[in-house]
Amino acid sequence: MATRHQHQEHTRSYYAASVNEKTDYPVLQGAKTTDVCVIGGGFTGVATALTLAERGYSVALIEANRIGWGASGRNGGQLINGISGLAKIRKKHGEGIADMLWDLKWRGNDIVHDRVARYDIACDLKNGFVEAAVKPRHMDELEEYAAELDAHNFAYEYTIWDREKTREMLGTDAYIGGFINYRDGHLHPLNLCIGEARAAHDLGVQIFEQSPVTKIAHGDRPKVHTASGYVEADSVVLAGNAYHFLEPKHLSNLTFPAGSYIIATEPLPDETVNQINPTDVAVCDLNEIMDYYRLSADKRMLYGGQCNYSGREPASIMASIVPRMLKVYPQLKNVKIEYEWGGMIGIVLNRIPALGRINKNVYYCQGYSGHGVNVTHIMGELVSDAIAGTMEKFDLFANMKHFRIPGSQWMGNQLIALGMLYYRMKDLV
Ligand SMILES: Cc1cc2nc3c(=O)[nH]c(=O)nc-3n(C[C@H](O)[C@H](O)[C@H](O)COP(=O)(O)OP(=O)(O)OC[C@H]3O[C@@H](n4cnc5c(N)ncnc54)[C@H](O)[C@@H]3O)c2cc1C
Repeated sequence: MATRHQHQEHTRSYYAASVNEKTDYPVLQGAKTTDVCVIGGGFTGVATALTLAERGYSVALIEANRIGWGASGRNGGQLINGISGLAKIRKKHGEGIADMLWDLKWRGNDIVHDRVARYDIACDLKNGFVEAAVKPRHMDELEEYAAELDAHNFAYEYTIWDREKTREMLGTDAYIGGFINYRDGHLHPLNLCIGEARAAHDLGVQIFEQSPVTKIAHGDRPKVHTASGYVEADSVVLAGNAYHFLEPKHLSNLTFPAGSYIIATEPLPDETVNQINPTDVAVCDLNEIMDYYRLSADKRMLYGGQCNYSGREPASIMASIVPRMLKVYPQLKNVKIEYEWGGMIGIVLNRIPALGRINKNVYYCQGYSGHGVNVTHIMGELVSDAIAGTMEKFDLFANMKHFRIPGSQWMGNQLIALGMLYYRMKDLV
């Protein structure tokens, strides 16, 4: 079955309006052969293709729309360490792998920094990420986090802020404290994705856009079909995340699409910038249903949140996000909102990214539960290792049990929405 999102241009976002380069890779025509065929041109697909090309593989990457068209070109741009569900893997395998998992959860940050430097990708990458506490229990969590960093002799700057310091650094009374670390940060995600695709292309990766994959024909050398051609490869990587409907027998009802939404204001005057975010850091609150925000390079407030687990679009993105922003920053009341957009994240019930193999040579990698800029780059490396025969880290994820909700995807989304009500209530208490 093909994707329902086909042959589209980028959504009207601040990112699409400020790209360094508009991509125009050809449509796949006729028959091609290659070592690896990657389906999906978001961070998972592009990072995997680039890693494989760096290691000498021949790669074809097929995207239904444009490079970075999905969540990767629309997200909050927060480059944050961690992998959802990692605690469960640690629990299963014990303390023996604790240090390896600690390194792994930061690995995506390192890959992004390396690539930005190596391929000279202009994507406004900056260090500094604040977790903002709304409730006393959040402060306890931050104390524990600081102790964990201490124990690992964390080599980057980090500090807990009290209420007063948080007010001074973020210009709001909304928080009772915060925690800043300078290994996480923020960036322009669409420019990163397009820049990585450019680097992959320069290394010989064949990229096809506007080419929705309709079918994977399995075999010793699977064939990946589109309406006008196919790619035959030793291995296939399926990286369509919340936007693909391929391999339903194995993957339907494993990952559920949930919407997340962002608004971008007009560029703010220096005076306001100096009041609300003088050191230009990314911010996430610690609620279960979180708000996240940062300034763009041209000093717009990019404010996101309002995850919608039912799969339905909100009637108005602005109407749902602006009140959230004004609660934190009433001083932005008269600021013009110039962009509003949303995208789909892939939710997995147990929150562990869904990695696996179908028939030994078709790999899939999806479901980062809203936390993907860092994680996609880690997973791209794990999948590339697996293709080369090193399965250790890939199998840590692939061997975790996932629950597939029986019935239709609509039904699954309703159940997830119901489950999230619990967390909404928790935020309110
Ligand atoms: C609004 C929003 C804000 C977010 N904020 C953050 C954040 O600040 N920090 C963070 O870490 N994470 C964030 N995320 C999550 C993060 O963006 C995702 O986890 C990550 O981008 C997923 O990347 P991906 O490549 O797996 O999927 P996507 O970027 O969604 O890419 C999948 C691609 O596959 C293509 N595709 C699908 N089907 C086919 C097919 N049949 N044939 C060919 N191509 C196909 C699609 O067109 C699409 O381009 C956010 C997500 C959203 C939506």
